[in-house]
Amino acid sequence: MTRFVFITGGVVSSLGKGLASAALGSLLQARGFKVRLRKLDPYINVDPGTMSPYQHGEVYVTDDGAETDLDLGHYERFTGVSARRTDNVTTGQIYSKVIAKERRGEYLGATIQVIPHITNAIKEFVLSDIDDEDFVLCEIGGTVGDIEGLPFLEAIRQLGNELGRDKAMYVHLTLLPYIAAAGELKTKPTQHSVKELLSLGIQPDLLLCRSEHQFSDGDRSKIAQFCNVRRDSVVPALDVESIYQVPISYHEQGLDDEVLRHFGIELPAPDLSRWKKITKRALAPEGDVAIAIVGKYMGLKDAYKSLSEALAHGGIANNVRVNLKWLEAEIFEEAGTVEHLEDVHGILVPGGFGERGAEGKIMAAKFARERHVPYFGICFGMQMAVVEAARNLAGIKGAGSTEFGPCDAPVVGLMTEWDKDGVTEQRGEDSDKGGTMRLGAYDCNLGDNSRVRGIYGNKAISERHRHRYEVNIAYEAELAGAGLVFSGKSPDGVLPEIVEIPEHPWFIGVQFHPELKSRPFEPHPLFTDFIRAAVDQSRLV
Ligand code: GLN
Repeated sequence: MTRFVFITGGVVSSLGKGLASAALGSLLQARGFKVRLRKLDPYINVDPGTMSPYQHGEVYVTDDGAETDLDLGHYERFTGVSARRTDNVTTGQIYSKVIAKERRGEYLGATIQVIPHITNAIKEFVLSDIDDEDFVLCEIGGTVGDIEGLPFLEAIRQLGNELGRDKAMYVHLTLLPYIAAAGELKTKPTQHSVKELLSLGIQPDLLLCRSEHQFSDGDRSKIAQFCNVRRDSVVPALDVESIYQVPISYHEQGLDDEVLRHFGIELPAPDLSRWKKITKRALAPEGDVAIAIVGKYMGLKDAYKSLSEALAHGGIANNVRVNLKWLEAEIFEEAGTVEHLEDVHGILVPGGFGERGAEGKIMAAKFARERHVPYFGICFGMQMAVVEAARNLAGIKGAGSTEFGPCDAPVVGLMTEWDKDGVTEQRGEDSDKGGTMRLGAYDCNLGDNSRVRGIYGNKAISERHRHRYEVNIAYEAELAGAGLVFSGKSPDGVLPEIVEIPEHPWFIGVQFHPELKSRPFEPHPLFTDFIRAAVDQSRLV
């Protein structure tokens, strides 16, 4: 039997609803249940793929090639369950589907309305593609009260009714602000938020209350009384130092017990020893390394969420704290120097789009190459490392990427044709921008004596992609002659997937996004080895 837990947010955004959902998923998993997590996003874009990272943070790509909300990254990292295309939906997708169906005449003359047509499509999504999961956790994006969210809340209200309360539960995440001048935690915003939900016909079963301080029994009783929930179902969600403490902290406050109680399930306490172990390693490491991230969207750390998590996993694997130095690539261009990189033990140039900051990233790659500092280039970071090596190692004049316009030597160019599971995908300059990149999991073969072959301990790998441009295979021999080897390629040998410099302590560029597959309990081998190399480097400087 599949049970559904619907998770909404109130009072303010950025309360960590995604993390809370992921933590609840991991706690239910620790009790032996099979879980699945989903995100319902009320915005009108079909997916976040066309949004600026400043608007929406990172775009998380699934194995099956969907561009999704970054919360799916939290879900995967906390539960180890790979997300699928069917785990994230938006208003844009729901309306596209309903309108296409209307055009096909499948509504048989009906007037199409939000209720029931849009809400039915949302309900269908929630109930679709479920195997034998015990729990499906559905997080509703945004904050209760948003206009866009109304059809979603109506749909989950109806589902609660249709499934029955023994199969559905509503969890509402709120904030208890602390007013320093009064020395008090305030419950009023929570009361208002619950009132708003009630006005839409949803009585939450459990309130997860974010707060900076532990709150009193009196506060708990007051919230219970005003919001019409059991006292034990008012669960404090206190600030913690490390995200790995969240499952333990929520468990100690009774979250999973209360969820199981709602469904009439009694079970012994979960074994959370692996969370305890990882928290300990994360909070008390034995050393430190400094890694520079040279990118473009430095104003919003969520733009590189999976990346910073993967680096932290690499740190945990090596028992060191990874201190991140976030650097705007443009500052190198303006200053004409990369002196900010002098004191770091590793340099990472992550994925990116567009010309702004590109020359700064090329300067960072050059510094890392010449000074023998470990360099990890991811997607755009690989492409810029190739441009750098082409210009400065191989002496290819005018080497560049056609992403920035025509150039004399396109060592990076638009991908116009590639193979996807035996089918040829084709693109041109005029193709739509949304959902048309090379997306999702692709196989890659590793060169026999390459460094990456040793790191992965495998000859064939599969990694997730999200890019429109590719390194031009035509330059392979020239670049190899100069010292930059193509050590990973698509199975047909046409697409360069990995480059490395064998003569360098650690210089690797990958066309895919390994950070998307790194998990705290299964750190990605490239991140583990990059941090290991950074530890070696830290002993030198
Ligand atoms: N802009 C580059 C491309 O489209 C790199 C993309 C990325 O880094 N994700 O190929």
